[in-house]
Amino acid sequence: MTPEVIKKPKEEYVRESAFLNFSEEKQERLRKRFWAKVDIKKSNDCWNWKSYLYDHKDGYGAFKYSNSPLRAHRVSWVISFEMPIKKGLVIAHSCDNRICCNPDHIFIGTQMANHKDATQKNRKPTDKKTGQFIKLTNPNPT
Ligand SMILES: [Zn+2]
Repeated sequence: MTPEVIKKPKEEYVRESAFLNFSEEKQERLRKRFWAKVDIKKSNDCWNWKSYLYDHKDGYGAFKYSNSPLRAHRVSWVISFEMPIKKGLVIAHSCDNRICCNPDHIFIGTQMANHKDATQKNRKPTDKKTGQFIKLTNPNPT
């Protein structure tokens, strides 16, 4: 018996993207389970994650799935826009609220774009340990 050759896919997607390959019923169950953990408000408001946090230092919502949790805002992206996330791309918050799952408050981009966005908002990842962005009081001292 010849072993099956597994070709590396052209594009690599992150784990969350696998949802899109599930059967309709399975996707429906997942969506129900996911949105039940989100405090859904008006479209302009932040929709805060009500369940576990990914890691107390990192502060993102954690959606329990399989053996390891997924970041809630990334799951929100995949199930809301039905678009996979390519490896290397990040899902960032326009509202700067890490537990927010409002699809209107998240956008896809590169790590670089995220940093640029952070700089424009006068945030800098100053705390290396937590990776938290903190607001600077005087970003451009003269
Ligand atoms: Zn928000």
